[in-house]
Amino acid sequence: MKEKCLWCFRKSTDLKEIELDFRGIRRQVKACDQVCESELRRFIEFVQTGTKWYVLGLAVSILGGLFVTFWRLRIDHGALGMLILLGGSGMTLVAFPFVTPQTVEKLGVRTALQTGRLLGVANVLIGVFFWWFLSNAIS
Ligand SMILES: [Zn+2]
Repeated sequence: MKEKCLWCFRKSTDLKEIELDFRGIRRQVKACDQVCESELRRFIEFVQTGTKWYVLGLAVSILGGLFVTFWRLRIDHGALGMLILLGGSGMTLVAFPFVTPQTVEKLGVRTALQTGRLLGVANVLIGVFFWWFLSNAIS
């Protein structure tokens, strides 16, 4: 049976088994070679150090954005608040592109990270659009 490398998702019958330690939980995964293995180990470290910033970034963007939206609703239709909410959460996702474990299982870690970054960029663009649209909305 062909298996997939968890990092690049290449199918091969010749993958090496490695053990990853994620928050004290050991898991056996497959990797092509030393390169994919070290990328996976770097990813684990990135998630472990980045999760708190990811959560903080999302919380500040969403709560701050909602607060500013309602506070300035009569001033700018919530334009600035939406920019903070969508732009802030988008930038958080670009810096820490963590997606669901299910997505990682489906795409492999490398593509999942790229997907997370793309979603972040899309979020920022949607935020800028909303900001522009609401700023120009007829009062
Ligand atoms: Zn690989």
